[in-house]
Amino acid sequence: PLENERYDYLFKVVVVGDSGVGKTSLIQQLCFERFANDQKSTIGVEFNSKSLLVDSKQVKIQLWDTAGQERFRSVAPSYYRGSLGAVITYDTTYAKSFEQIQFWLNSLNQHCPTAKILVIGNKSDLVDLRAVPIEVAREFAEQEDLVLVEASAKDLSSVEFAFNKLVSVILADR
Ligand code: GDP
Ligand code: MG
Repeated sequence: PLENERYDYLFKVVVVGDSGVGKTSLIQQLCFERFANDQKSTIGVEFNSKSLLVDSKQVKIQLWDTAGQERFRSVAPSYYRGSLGAVITYDTTYAKSFEQIQFWLNSLNQHCPTAKILVIGNKSDLVDLRAVPIEVAREFAEQEDLVLVEASAKDLSSVEFAFNKLVSVILADR
């Protein structure tokens, strides 16, 4: 990190969602502009940071990634503690991961009820494999009063768009 790095806000953001939906890939793309077809879960690193200029504010977000414990539905309360934002990720090519949004919503409501939530439908590049129609996703998001965007961890601009949106929602409350 730069020693004289300046920012107006520092926000902790947790990234949740079922195993394999692309959480680590989204974070790697946003923070390091890289994509790996054989993404390994990052062991020993709690979070990566990224600075974004949103609504004329320089915002540094700390992105917390799970180390695979989501597979066992046993994400520790300490993972969520203090987060102002949360990303629930599902895989647009895997309907089960979309149904699991409710589980992650419940976890967030329990552990960080005031966090602003963004839902990302990931892997939008796999158009031929789509299993969750965008209309279905939008209707669900509307019912639950959630902000939803589709993105691809292969495409930096779509990932930046998504995280900018979350930061904008958090900022609106400050
Ligand atoms: P996590 O378990 O939620 O952290 O998911 P990973 O980031 O490890 O991704 C699981 C697999 O999906 C890896 O093989 C990634 O390369 C792949 N993947 C992740 N995001 C995308 C995406 O947007 N498009 C495509 N085509 N593959 C993706
Ligand atoms: Mg991962």
